Amino acid sequence: MSEEKSLNFIEEIVEADLASGKYQSITTRFPPEPNGYLHIGHAKSICLNFGLAKKYGGKTNLRFDDTNPVTEETEYVESIKDDVRWLGFEWANELYASNYFEQLYGFAVKLIEKGLAYVDDSTSDEIAQQKGTPTTPGVRNQYAERTAAENLALFTDMRAGKFADGSKVLRAKIDMASPNMLMRDPIIYRIKHAHHHRTGDAWCIYPMYDFAHGQSDSIEQITHSICTLEFVPHRDLYDWCIENLEIFPSHQYEFARLNMTYTIMSKRKLLQLVNEKHVTGWDDPRMSTISGMRRRGYTAEAIREFCDRIGIAKRENLIDVSLLEFCVREHLNKIALRRMVIFDPLKVVITNYTNETEILSSENNPEDETAGSRDIPFSREIYIEKEDFMEVAPKKYFRLAPGQMVRLKSAYIIKCDEVIKDAAGNITEVHCSYIPESKSGSDTSGITVKGTLHWVSVAHAENIEVRLYDRLFKVEDVGNAEGDFKDHINDDSLQVIANAYAEPALKNDKADDRYQFIRKGYFSVDKDSTPGKLVFNRTVTLKDAWAKEVKKG
Ligand code: ATP
Ligand code: MG
Repeated sequence: MSEEKSLNFIEEIVEADLASGKYQSITTRFPPEPNGYLHIGHAKSICLNFGLAKKYGGKTNLRFDDTNPVTEETEYVESIKDDVRWLGFEWANELYASNYFEQLYGFAVKLIEKGLAYVDDSTSDEIAQQKGTPTTPGVRNQYAERTAAENLALFTDMRAGKFADGSKVLRAKIDMASPNMLMRDPIIYRIKHAHHHRTGDAWCIYPMYDFAHGQSDSIEQITHSICTLEFVPHRDLYDWCIENLEIFPSHQYEFARLNMTYTIMSKRKLLQLVNEKHVTGWDDPRMSTISGMRRRGYTAEAIREFCDRIGIAKRENLIDVSLLEFCVREHLNKIALRRMVIFDPLKVVITNYTNETEILSSENNPEDETAGSRDIPFSREIYIEKEDFMEVAPKKYFRLAPGQMVRLKSAYIIKCDEVIKDAAGNITEVHCSYIPESKSGSDTSGITVKGTLHWVSVAHAENIEVRLYDRLFKVEDVGNAEGDFKDHINDDSLQVIANAYAEPALKNDKADDRYQFIRKGYFSVDKDSTPGKLVFNRTVTLKDAWAKEVKKG
């Protein structure tokens, strides 16, 4: 974050709170529910919460919001920790809302004793009916008349497991006429005889979100509790609980959640994609999950940069996914090693080349001198891309065509002399001659050509598999598109090139490295690679690749 950049509204609040002495230092938290893998929206929240603490010398807790026993799993807890670390952040404490069950129970007892909570035996339908509507006040039922002693006894029995699921709830006694529906005696505890992934069978009553989140914040002395806009209506209840329990005054602030084009961001929907096998798993490179993006080759730096660029908004909007791709491309341009790979080969025989093999050298990354160079074997037979040759070329076609010259990247200028065809008339190979004086780096030929092609030596080529990804959805605003979100899945989001031909330098590289396949895009090694065959994911395409390469020569 650069100095001259103006503050976002949350930074303004934090700076004011520090300046006024309201807080000596700040504490934020990132509170995922461990019911799925994190997605790019969570990355936004992580960058915001951890970023604030980092900027103002505070700390951030990682708190698992695991108050719902049914959906949470340890696998998710581990993946969330991996993702936060991978994004480059370290939490001050790893905490679980379930650690606070005893304290939260105590808070509920305190409300009961103050006459501010009661046990209600109504069915959920009855409770909903009695709530009224935003324009008509609700009504209180007879259970609200129970005395504190009665409520305490019933609540104790609820905890002891004497009642069936759904037969009773504990409600806060607030205001059945409040314009805020959430203040109309909200349910704060429910009975659920379910095994919890951390507390086991110790509890059969569980606090509701609104009676766990703010209280957990308070227990941890969170100064700035940041959440997304849909929690605005919850803020009254958040404040009411803290005030009536007389606990640490955490404050809630809301910002607009990240929505992105061609993307869904809901763990529930992402889980459906996984379960119904539209993708290969949570870390499928087409997923908007952090693990998917990581597998695809996105860098943490690029994701942080993206989150920084989009800023913090107070109103919902839809961010163009191409901004994220731009950030990825920008970073990879700086760090990715250049390699030549042919996806769809056309054999070129250089008829006047009589050497066995020659080892040429090419820089690993023109953007980074320290990246060094690599050896590239050159020989009499090479592959170029089929699409880089035309038998009948239009004007201003600068690639290979009969009688035309091109430069082979980091090698020689060649001229197309003859096109060889089979009996059916299909082109099988192209015969060329090379200009010995035109070697890159020591070119004395005086010939200038406009096209530079990538190539690999046939005898030295390595077979690799390449996976090209496209957007997983066909419509921009998937969240608001008509029908089921799965109706909009792009069936052509994966194209596999089972056999591409790579220069041998690729084989020696270790996994997890990132490359630019010259004129093709950015690629990274996939975990499906075997010792015999490397598999690459296309991370992102190259923009204007052709225009750029032409100039370099
Ligand atoms: P989902 O609907 O995907 O399950 P969630 O909000 O239920 O998302 P949580 O695990 O409860 O997921 O979220 C943890 C934190 O991440 C919360 O503070 C939440 O506000 C934030 N968050 C979730 N989605 C986004 C998003 N799209 N943009 C910004 N922050 C988000
Ligand atoms: Mg949630």
